[in-house]
Parts: sequence; structure tokens; C-alpha cells
Amino acid sequence: MARIAIYPGSFDPPTNGHVYIAKRGVEVFDKLVVAIARNVSKTALFSETERLEMLREVLGKDARIEVDAFEGLLVEYARRKGATVILRGLRAVADFEYEFQMANMNRKLAPGVETFFLMTGEEHFYVSAQLVREVASLGGNVTGLVPPMVEERLRKRLGT
Ligand code: ADP
Repeated sequence: MARIAIYPGSFDPPTNGHVYIAKRGVEVFDKLVVAIARNVSKTALFSETERLEMLREVLGKDARIEVDAFEGLLVEYARRKGATVILRGLRAVADFEYEFQMANMNRKLAPGVETFFLMTGEEHFYVSAQLVREVASLGGNVTGLVPPMVEERLRKRLGT
């Protein structure tokens, strides 16, 4: 049976940290679904369509990776996709508490779905999509933190 993992997130925008986790994750599982979680309470810089386009351009060449979006409970989405694994990336200690809560809640909701964590690479551990948005909006250089095509889109969107 193929092991399918879901890598959920906002990906607003996709960063090199996200790409790192997706590329390592797909080597561990048979298929990886990179899934944008629709979040009505978060105002996004990029629309869902734009985020799908960016993720597809950066990761879509690998036939083992599917890029998608979902709303509602992650574990329900995982069930629909036939996935038994939730993949998450860990950066600093600050990620831990939230991830620990989420993993335990998801385990309670769906005991058959396991959360796997991959440790970030040292060159990505301070990279968050939020920080990238902030720095880029202030005209700072985000080269090397996001794929070149995302950098270009940030420049266009923010007029920097
Ligand atoms: P962010 O936290 O950067 O706004 P997301 O909400 O899209 O991004 O995060 C989705 C998943 O990707 C989470 O598991 C998060 O910990 C992980 N992630 C985000 N940035 C990195 C990074 N630089 N290195 C490793 N994992 C990361």
C-alpha cells in the first residue's frame, strides 16, 4: 500500500524552508500532498490560486508531489486523500508547543493518522513566511530565502 503524507500549511508565500521539508519528505513517503489550508481568519498576501501556482511551479515537476488546497479539518482531508501521515517541519523551539498541541489533537481526532516531524536545515531555521512578507514589504532582500520565482512575485506584489 502506498504511504501518502500530507504537508499542510499556509505557504503565503512558499519559502525555501517549505521546499526543503517537501523535498526531504517525498523521499520518505511514496506520495506527498502539499496542501494549502484555507483559513478564513488569516488575511493572505497571495490568493490561494497564486499560492497553488507558485507551489506547482516549484515542486510540481516531481510526479510524487501533488499540490492542492483544502478547508475544514485536516484529518478529514487526510482521510479523503487516503493519507496516513501528516508531515510538519520544525524550526526553533518556538514551533514545538504549537506543533505538540496540534499533533495531539489530530491524534485524538484520528488515531490512525501519525504526525511526522522533519527538522529544518540550518540555513532555513530562521525563515518563516511571515518574516519573509515583512522583510519584503519593507524593501529588504529575501534572495536565498524563497525560490527566485517567488521573489519576483513578491517584488511585483509589493512594488519594491
Ligand atoms: P510559516 O510558519 O512559515 O508561516 P506555514 O504555516 O505555511 O509557514 O508552515 C507550514 C509548515 O511548514 C509548518 O510545519 C512549519 O513548521 C513548516 N515550516 C515553515 N517554514 C519552515 C522552515 N523554514 N523550515 C522548516 N519547516 C518550516
